[in-house]
Amino acid sequence: MIPGIRPLPGFLVQRFHGWRATTWRENKAWYRRLAQDGQHPRTMVISCCDSRVHVTSIFGADEGEFFIHRNIASLVPPFNPDGEYHGTSAAIEYAVTTLRVAHVVVLGHANCGGVRGCHDMCQGHAPEL
Ligand SMILES: [Zn+2]
Repeated sequence: MIPGIRPLPGFLVQRFHGWRATTWRENKAWYRRLAQDGQHPRTMVISCCDSRVHVTSIFGADEGEFFIHRNIASLVPPFNPDGEYHGTSAAIEYAVTTLRVAHVVVLGHANCGGVRGCHDMCQGHAPEL
């Protein structure tokens, strides 16, 4: 064990073992092909981090179908080649230039706390932001 690093919580370990004993075991060849052939998604989805947004369930997608990037409020910053760290921009660049996705979907959702916080900040109602 690495000092300062905690093991996965027990409920996640249990769920992983359940998945491995059922879904993975029943589809081993398919997962092997996904691992060996690399990813070839047709669509990139930029989604909010909100735990209620389950991108693959909403669109009935399987593993390998979507290249998914998540951040708070599904924000897409303007292009800015300043040499700084831009996770969303890097994900979009990789999806478009390397994976050659055909579609980029920016997925919003109801009652987004990130959008509310941004709105409140712009209205001056969140001085802490
Ligand atoms: Zn949200």
